[in-house]
Amino acid sequence: MEKDTAVVNKPEEKKVVSRNFIEMEIDKDLAEGVYDHVQTRFPPEPNGYLHIGHAKSILLNYGLAQEYGGKFNMRFDDTNPTKEKIEFVESIKADVQWLGADFEDRLFFASDYFGQMYECAVLLIKKGKAFVCDLSADEIKEYRGDFTTPGKESPYRNRSIEENLRLFEEMKEGKYADGEKVLRAKIDMASPNINMRDPVIYRVAHMSHHNTGDQWCIYPMYDFAHPIEDAIEHITHSICTLEFEDHRPLYDWVVRECEFENPPRQIEFAKLYLTNVVTGKRYIKKLVEDGIVDGWDDPRLVSIAGLRRRGYTPESIRRFVDLVGVAKADSSVDYAMLEYCIREDLKLKRPRLMAVLNPVRLVIDNYPEGQTEVLEIPNNLENEELGSRQVVFGRELYIERDDFMENPPRKYFRLFPGNEVRLMGAYFVKCTGCEKDADGNVTVVHATYDPETKSGSGFTGRKVKGTIHWVCAGEATKVECRLYENIVDEEKGKLNADGTLNLNPNSLTVLKNCYVEPELARAKAYDSFQFMRNGYFCVDCKDSREGAPVFNRIVSLKSSFKL
Ligand code: ATP
Ligand code: MG
Repeated sequence: MEKDTAVVNKPEEKKVVSRNFIEMEIDKDLAEGVYDHVQTRFPPEPNGYLHIGHAKSILLNYGLAQEYGGKFNMRFDDTNPTKEKIEFVESIKADVQWLGADFEDRLFFASDYFGQMYECAVLLIKKGKAFVCDLSADEIKEYRGDFTTPGKESPYRNRSIEENLRLFEEMKEGKYADGEKVLRAKIDMASPNINMRDPVIYRVAHMSHHNTGDQWCIYPMYDFAHPIEDAIEHITHSICTLEFEDHRPLYDWVVRECEFENPPRQIEFAKLYLTNVVTGKRYIKKLVEDGIVDGWDDPRLVSIAGLRRRGYTPESIRRFVDLVGVAKADSSVDYAMLEYCIREDLKLKRPRLMAVLNPVRLVIDNYPEGQTEVLEIPNNLENEELGSRQVVFGRELYIERDDFMENPPRKYFRLFPGNEVRLMGAYFVKCTGCEKDADGNVTVVHATYDPETKSGSGFTGRKVKGTIHWVCAGEATKVECRLYENIVDEEKGKLNADGTLNLNPNSLTVLKNCYVEPELARAKAYDSFQFMRNGYFCVDCKDSREGAPVFNRIVSLKSSFKL
């Protein structure tokens, strides 16, 4: 069978290398005429911020809709008024849009379907498939049994249809207190699948809802609401994570018994986990609440907001999600792979400038005092299209403190007394010595330059082994740079014995005396650059001020990660 025949509107550039298992299921459904279109959705609960795992789900669902010429819906699964907040609705929408998953005008709220869900429940009662139960939550749990013990039927299971209709109506009208009565599906207390043992589908909760206010005091349970939401929106493939696999028979039961035509089907895939980072909403929340990180968008978090603030691009996250692929078994992906993706994305796109993070003064004693000159330096040697810029050179420069050593070890090719190096884009300089303070700290490094060796002059007289970067002391802008390490260290164990996170005390280093090329003073929030030899940096969106940007290191340049 020709696998791709049912594919409509497949973008030309998308190479079909191998189909993942979800695509194969969809191909089959289209070929067999189960569906004649593809419609997917992303259904977050507005109870927190999104993280990299959600990005995977968003891009998977959106990508499938794109691939099959179908539609992608954004739907807030806001059926639980206890934990949900409007603030999360706005941040989630912004994150999804930033990732480039375009839901056009299809923004939905599950709470808009409460009326239809109520009708579905009434239909089930009329069919003898649902009943009002007076057991307490503890009793329901006890009656449910477990993997080895079958469940016990509720004494209220055989109420008449009329009585059930009346009681359910009274639940809706607010006659009962929270927990006093619930509506349960009447399925099978002996089912080996515990989810099928007369699950609760409606509960009483006298609570205001962010969207429907006080209109309702009964709320549908997730397992009942979710399939109905999908069916109402004509979703074809309801893609969710593995923990819902055992709920699939109930999903199918709900759409069948509620008599939806052409009902959706659920397909499960494995959650994305990353090493050395904190992904669970619960843990992230704790870090924020304990003040260990600077809010949900702290650059050390893999929340979408944190990744954006750190300087990750939507392209790099899309690339990452593509590389990870879709699996049916849980596994952890190396964080280094995410870093690889941002490096690859920025490599040719961003200018490469000079920034000295940990400065020491370099004085070129034979360069005329008061003189400066302008050098033309290419912005990115691997991408000519980025052009070049003019950089001022003078007698006093800043170089990295660790680019000078008074007594170097073997194979140290940078500055030490008697050694010559190239100053990037400028001249050869030969170290003549240094000055130190009373504590023995180097305060100034001295050197002489050779005017014959100017970059681009074609000088071939001799070679040097080291090239170091620099900025001109009178010209450079002083800025703050922040360097990050992973917030937890997997090798030392992610959790302590008491279940708390084993935090890396060095996850943030603030450097307040960095010097950068003067044009960087004008950089705007989210602008990113390569700082030569030091990594990729992005202007912090929260703490930067006009003319005084703060730079977050996105990622260093080196990696042991190989694809
Ligand atoms: P968390 O477990 O972090 O609290 P959640 O599953 O409670 O997340 P929801 O808002 O319910 O968050 O999830 C929205 C969608 O995102 C669901 O379809 C869910 O399966 C998916 N999702 C959540 N976490 C991951 C993950 N780590 N990898 C892939 N998909 C995920
Ligand atoms: Mg959830």
